[in-house]
Amino acid sequence: MTNVYRTPFAYFDLVESFPKSGCAICNLMQRDVQQFIDNMLFEYANEPGLRAEFSAGRGTCIEHGLMLKNNKIGNVIGVTRLYQDTLDDLLKILNETPVGTVEQTTFQRFRGSPPKADGSSLADLLEPTEGCIACERLNEYETMYLDMFNRYMLDERFHEAYRQSNGVCLPHFRRALRHIESPDAVRALVRLQQAIWSSLREEMGIFFEKQNYEHIGETIGAEGDSWVRAILRMAGERSIFGLRRSQKK
Ligand SMILES: [Zn+2]
Ligand SMILES: [Zn+2]
Repeated sequence: MTNVYRTPFAYFDLVESFPKSGCAICNLMQRDVQQFIDNMLFEYANEPGLRAEFSAGRGTCIEHGLMLKNNKIGNVIGVTRLYQDTLDDLLKILNETPVGTVEQTTFQRFRGSPPKADGSSLADLLEPTEGCIACERLNEYETMYLDMFNRYMLDERFHEAYRQSNGVCLPHFRRALRHIESPDAVRALVRLQQAIWSSLREEMGIFFEKQNYEHIGETIGAEGDSWVRAILRMAGERSIFGLRRSQKK
């Protein structure tokens, strides 16, 4: 009989990553996107479809652009080809789109107000029509890991490994809450996350107390970097969620 129930790699990746420090989903996404970037340059920089998608995204976001720049195989020709196409497309838009003037009201004309340029139609054409190619992949990897939370939260090995982990970051906790279907699984995740956050909060309390002069001379233990861990647990690991500015102004 064929094995219809096969445990996915992502399950084992998570179980193995939980004991390491930081949010396991963030950490695995960082690993996956790094592999994607290296492979993309190696295999796909010559593919017209991918180059068109890249150009429609107006290149990548800066995080992934810098990863492209520092790609492991030192492929600068691939990066150049991708951005040549992107710039060609942007230059075409500039060539074909004259900048108009915003039409004035009679009152404005009467008052002699100076005419204003209509740069916004051109700005609209310069907006990306696709996401950053690597950010799009990050979304796919994330969904894959969240699916594992959905399927295996009540699996004993998964559950136990998660219990001993640093927990996922807050943004991933919110996503997991929205993603997991079974009420029992959601409750199990909440209980574990509660315990993980409570012990972090306790460590921070101990650290805070030890800053008091009465406690000078006491050695600082594992709680010493609890405040740094709080920064990471609230925001996620580097290069996963980024800044909170709005894109369009
Ligand atoms: Zn995370
Ligand atoms: Zn990106």
